[in-house]
Amino acid sequence: MKQLNKHNIAIIPGDGIGPEVINSGLKVIRRSLRLDNISIKEKVYNWGSNYYKKHQLMMPKNGLEKLKQHNAIFFGAVGDEKIADDITLWGLRLKICQGLDQFANIRPSKYIEGIKSPLDKKIAKNIDWLIVRENSEGEYAGSGGIVHRDLPIEIGSEVAIFTKEGCRRIHDYAFKLALKRPRKHLTLITKSNAQRHGMKLWDKMFYEVKRKYPTIKTEKLLVDAATAVMVNNPEKIDVMVATNLHADILSDLASALSGSLGIGATANISTDKKIPSMFEPIHGSAFDIVGKNIANPIGAIWSGMMMLEHLGEKKSAARIFKAIKIYANKNGPFTPDLGGIASTDQVTNEILKLLD
Ligand code: ATP
Repeated sequence: MKQLNKHNIAIIPGDGIGPEVINSGLKVIRRSLRLDNISIKEKVYNWGSNYYKKHQLMMPKNGLEKLKQHNAIFFGAVGDEKIADDITLWGLRLKICQGLDQFANIRPSKYIEGIKSPLDKKIAKNIDWLIVRENSEGEYAGSGGIVHRDLPIEIGSEVAIFTKEGCRRIHDYAFKLALKRPRKHLTLITKSNAQRHGMKLWDKMFYEVKRKYPTIKTEKLLVDAATAVMVNNPEKIDVMVATNLHADILSDLASALSGSLGIGATANISTDKKIPSMFEPIHGSAFDIVGKNIANPIGAIWSGMMMLEHLGEKKSAARIFKAIKIYANKNGPFTPDLGGIASTDQVTNEILKLLD
């Protein structure tokens, strides 16, 4: 039977362990799609720190235009020991997220039987969260500067930007996601007790949007209190909506509590159907394990699965999630971050076998 070639994917393996895990992710999504008689068109963009070393740019000037020709972007990691983080991050990942206005970043965290959590199993099994992160402004808007540079009175400012529309659209997106989940519960993460301007607008817009969603139960939690709730009472949380900085921190905590940084996945969503969304593992380039074939590929595989869901390939995506669950339930084999001795390739091959 002729294969349907429906999706045109941009692949940016990036730096560090990015290429290793993206390779695994691609093998898994290709195989799952093939079982449904669907193939993808792939275009690899070798942008990142090596590109920077040659061109003094992390991606070409017309990079965003190139990406706009695709249906989705599959991204590895960015960061290099020899180049400042703000150059690598702002020059590639943030440039894409902001340039394509991927304003919603979503990060699922779920306890999977077999993957060891630092929490007691009785508590950990209640982890089933979706963190919705504002991804275009807030504390990472890039507003600020240095005055009196290199003088004893040098001063740096970092201005968090909250716009009415920026707050409205992310809250609305979070309510819509909460509506799709069985518990229909949304927690507003804030710090408006101490930050009285932008965070107040953040809260105000939440309650304004809430009027449209009478069936969603809501709760307000200060970000510091939220960390304790996540550790002690994970069942109290379903979907959380948080600012760029708060969600960045909470989602690392979420993935550590559900097993390892190596298994977390994330999606940077543009709600404009003509603009591609971007899918990536949450970990960075992990210099300490590059080239050792021990990087955990599950985060990349999981993000590939989120990409398929987003593209409407629900059956192929569900097959991947089922394979991950069976793999974990039967105890791996796991990479060292999850307490095992398996290689990236062994884990990938195991998941491929389970797909079949
Ligand atoms: P970034 O700021 O770019 O998110 P980071 O400073 O948080 O990066 P990572 O590169 O994510 O750091 O790595 C943090 C630690 O987690 C390192 O010790 C790294 O080896 C480990 N780690 C990250 N990803 C994986 C993975 N996929 N498999 C195994 N270990 C990982």
